[in-house]
Amino acid sequence: MHSINVTKSSLPPFEEYCAEIRDIWDSAWLTNMGRKHQALEAALSDYLGARHLSLFSNGHLALEAMLRVMDLQGEVITSPFTFASTAHAIVRCGLKPVYCDIKYSDYTIDEDKVEALINERTCAILPIHVYGNVCNHEKLAAVAQKHHIKLLYDAAHSFGEHYQGISTANMGDACIFSFHATKVFHTIEGGAVCFADPALREKLYLEKNFGIPNAEEVIAVGGNAKMNEFQAAMGLCNLRHVDSYIQQRRALCERYAAHLQGLPLRLCPVQEGLRSNYSYLPVLFAEGQRDKVFAVLKAENIHARKYFYPLCNAFACYEDSSDSTPIAKDVSRRILTLPLYPDLLPEDVDRICGILKEVLHA
Ligand SMILES: *Cc1c(COP(=O)(O)O)cnc(C)c1O
Repeated sequence: MHSINVTKSSLPPFEEYCAEIRDIWDSAWLTNMGRKHQALEAALSDYLGARHLSLFSNGHLALEAMLRVMDLQGEVITSPFTFASTAHAIVRCGLKPVYCDIKYSDYTIDEDKVEALINERTCAILPIHVYGNVCNHEKLAAVAQKHHIKLLYDAAHSFGEHYQGISTANMGDACIFSFHATKVFHTIEGGAVCFADPALREKLYLEKNFGIPNAEEVIAVGGNAKMNEFQAAMGLCNLRHVDSYIQQRRALCERYAAHLQGLPLRLCPVQEGLRSNYSYLPVLFAEGQRDKVFAVLKAENIHARKYFYPLCNAFACYEDSSDSTPIAKDVSRRILTLPLYPDLLPEDVDRICGILKEVLHA
């Protein structure tokens, strides 16, 4: 049997990408905010309905830049149930992550537990729209406003999503997206910061371009996080197809759901009022079952992913404080994301679900 990975990068037709990069050759302009970069920035702002958008070479550097331009100091409240990037960005920017627990309903930060963690050192809340499940923005925004702290989202999983008509690009003071090869929409590597205050555009630019605003000045200690023209060209191509990628994902998710209903496991339902991007297929198993399912699938050459395991507050590079977030700890030991990508075959979904049925009924 052929091997099935948890994900597979979406690619436009080869000829389409070749046509898109033709003028990069003609102009020999490969990076530094060229024509493809400008075109993608405009097209993405439009697609996401973003207030303001700035492209980056990857999502992680977008995250670090977002934190830096906010002039933060002290503690940032976040959730440990996320990709390593979220916690690392906070620490690498000289800030301290303070971990808040999550909810069983959708695995996002528990908005009712945030306020108890706020003290005089708290400068921001950095929640994650995990698996594309949108956080309780209304409540989080009220808490942030009451305490005069920033609300910044890691929206890496929520490309193109709208919740009750609001684009996730426009929630909070700012957010980041990742356009990594494994995400719903990608630019090979890439990312963006979307932000409310137009004055941040210049600051973000300095962050990604060595603090250089023009040929004769250097006015900030910036780094290098520029998206190049080949990345932007991939983005322009993928943007033409992303709606159909999402449709294909949706059909596969519905096929999984139809097969798996009635089994002793929990699928995460699409939130009421959400236009979902169907980015992941997380399944919560009963105690002790997750690792068994993972191993049986692996023996069949099917590679699911323990995502997110371990929790950020249990990483070897940090002090283990995972006991302070018992729900996140429990979920991380029982969750598995199943293979999901636009050209996954329906027969493969059937086979994967057949294996799950056998394991769970054994
Ligand atoms: C992918 C991801 C990132 C980092 O993005 P890169 O583009 O890979 O640097 C950050 N946060 C979350 C939740 C992610 O899934």
